[in-house]
Amino acid sequence: MATLDELGIMMAKRFTETLYDTFGQSFVVEEVLFESRTEHQHLIIFSNQHFGRVMALDGVVQTTEKDEFIYHEMLTHTPILAHGNVKRVLIIGGGDGGILREVLRHTGIEHVTMVEIDSAVVDMCIKYFPQHSAGSFEDPRVKLVIDDGVDFVVNNQEKFDIIISDSTDPEGPGEVLFTSSFYQGCKNSLNEGGILVTQNGVSFMQLDEVKTTYQRFNDVFVDRWFFTAAVPTYVGGVMTLSWGCDNPELRNVPHDIIQQRFEKAGFKTRYYNPAIHAAAFALPQYVVDVLAD
Ligand code: SAM
Repeated sequence: MATLDELGIMMAKRFTETLYDTFGQSFVVEEVLFESRTEHQHLIIFSNQHFGRVMALDGVVQTTEKDEFIYHEMLTHTPILAHGNVKRVLIIGGGDGGILREVLRHTGIEHVTMVEIDSAVVDMCIKYFPQHSAGSFEDPRVKLVIDDGVDFVVNNQEKFDIIISDSTDPEGPGEVLFTSSFYQGCKNSLNEGGILVTQNGVSFMQLDEVKTTYQRFNDVFVDRWFFTAAVPTYVGGVMTLSWGCDNPELRNVPHDIIQQRFEKAGFKTRYYNPAIHAAAFALPQYVVDVLAD
């Protein structure tokens, strides 16, 4: 009977996510492609047979080649097609370039500013995840700013139609992107009828974060809610994305209008579609109950 030590020798090298103290997903590491402590966080990129290349920051999975399309499509096309006339977009975080790629597919968009705190993430993702940005950083509509997102929005004078906060979790450099001053800075940076959407964690595992965002949005937006996406490597249930806007109608645009806008946009998706757009705003009862408290 093999001992644990012998098993340890036989078991492949694994990466175990450390987002939660007592639970985590684990990947067999085929090859570590890059690892370093950047100016802001620990960055590792490794390959896994099932998910392809995987990037983690401070021990938390950020994106994988295999399932990145789900999150990137939902966090971009849902607000953009709900708004219906987006010209200017601000992305906070998003260093892997996936959100930027999906935003730029909308040909009516004239300008995108992306504010990412860690240039190493951008550089390494261009190198190891070329399909994420797919050349988006070279698009003449794009302005990449290396800065802390909260400093940018608090001092920003420009206006945007959509703001997408594609941040890490509220620990380390990402923590400030879940604060009231950040949300107020975003609100001040939105045109009338603009929408803020943010990454807000897996509600089954991070329900407190959902509740905190809901409370903080209350002081900033007329309409605040959440929508969801099932992302396999954001482990523990559906990924919850926040929605803040002063026009409640934008969260309830009729399906046939979304359908028309989606067809007019003229591109193919692999997860997002108008039916999922509508369904995504339906939340599990345990989340609704917490928000009602
Ligand atoms: N999709 C992932 C998720 O849902 O967890 C997020 C991916 S993206 C890699 C997260 C990015 O947020 C990282 O590139 C990180 O450097 C950036 N980030 C963290 N804190 C930031 C801050 N205060 N300002 C700007 N970017 C920040």
